[in-house]
Amino acid sequence: MRRTKIVATIGPASREPSTLLEMVKAGMDVARLNYSHGTLTEHEETVRRVRDAAGRAGRPVAILQDLPGPKLRIGPLREDIVELKPGDIVTFSCGDERVGDAHHMTITWPGLAEALQSGEVIYLADGSVRLRVRETRPQAGEVDAEVEIGGAVASRQGLNIPGPAAALPSVPEEDLELLRHGESIGVDLVALSFVRDPSDIEAVRKHTRLPLIAKMEKPQAVDRAEEIVKAADCVMVARGDLGIEMAIEKVPAVQKRLLELAGWLARPSITATQMLDSMVASSRPTRAEVADVANAILDGTDAVMLSQETAIGAHPVQAVAMMAAIAQEAEQIAPYERWNASRVRRSDADPAYTVAHSLCVAASDLKLDALVVPTLSGRSARLVSAHRPTVPIYALSPGKETVRRCGLMWGVQASSIRRHETTEELIADAARRVVELGWCEKGQRVGITAGLPSGRPGTTSLVQIQVL
Ligand code: PEP
Repeated sequence: MRRTKIVATIGPASREPSTLLEMVKAGMDVARLNYSHGTLTEHEETVRRVRDAAGRAGRPVAILQDLPGPKLRIGPLREDIVELKPGDIVTFSCGDERVGDAHHMTITWPGLAEALQSGEVIYLADGSVRLRVRETRPQAGEVDAEVEIGGAVASRQGLNIPGPAAALPSVPEEDLELLRHGESIGVDLVALSFVRDPSDIEAVRKHTRLPLIAKMEKPQAVDRAEEIVKAADCVMVARGDLGIEMAIEKVPAVQKRLLELAGWLARPSITATQMLDSMVASSRPTRAEVADVANAILDGTDAVMLSQETAIGAHPVQAVAMMAAIAQEAEQIAPYERWNASRVRRSDADPAYTVAHSLCVAASDLKLDALVVPTLSGRSARLVSAHRPTVPIYALSPGKETVRRCGLMWGVQASSIRRHETTEELIADAARRVVELGWCEKGQRVGITAGLPSGRPGTTSLVQIQVL
């Protein structure tokens, strides 16, 4: 059984029902809807198709809504792609919707001319094109910038300004509208882009009960990583924008630090962007990409993510299958003993962490066959998963949303169970259910956690060892 979870971005290359079904069968655990692209109607239809594919494959698939956040974009260009040459001057006019060209581009944010200073840098085309601001005319809402590193720029592409982004609105009103749309079509998880401090998470938390994923893609966020990871439910190492907003050579160290922090605070983590990038065109990844996926897993990521590979790539199903194969190999050599002993912070303030740790110690000392974790909110499953036990974690929940959310948690397979009045009934039914599901066999020895009183989230306090 593979433990690492696979997030795949759905786009034009993967929206067909037959492709989605093959992707689920190949191992897609979470389908990501990138709300920076596509129409609301398309996202709604994609949710229907993913649910249908998951039903047909008999595997739960969680749906992740990725909100655009305060991402800056240039407007439409007359020719879809223009070539910028070193020394060219480009005038950005802010907030108007004129069609642009190689010398005049519009940008979606009216505050740009006020936020920028002469000498600051603007990146286009995923950081491959660099311009330096020569003059700003705030009255006219215009900025002149000189191309330093040239290249091709496409219509409506993203624009990064690493310096003055503090002036940007943190959570745009449009994100909250998109969030309402996501909730209405039944998404399971929500990712917030360009988070800078914990208040960005709290601002959205007021509007939803869905789990929130903090996308770490700004240096300001990295500086306040511990507070942000604590405020969020999950964390994404969004290496694409991170590699533009800070020196690209610093990204591997940041990735390692964030994954370690996520483990310490028992938050599921996703490592994202360009993991198998060459598979956008080719049916095989490079050796370096294979090593990148394996190393993210060995650094403790819960999930690995495919972006362009599955959204617009030529081999979406093979990309998922390749991720699954790499994960299974990497998991053979992971440092489970060290993870079990010290990956997660334990404190005298919250016994749930110690209970989860004890369950994992029991799994190893007693050579248990599996861990069975009844969970209302998913929290108990998350805490057990964070310790990285070597045996399967079977989460059982009366909430179908909780079952799907477990899709992001390393090593957790989840299914439904009835609600029970007493802890004894819950434990007995959980033991019955894992056999009924074909996950365990009669006679196997498992560890089961439970709470007192039953039916209340956050009360997990018991470990029981049982022969099924
Ligand atoms: C990233 O920048 O790595 C990322 C995942 O964000 P997006 O794909 O939304 O730009």
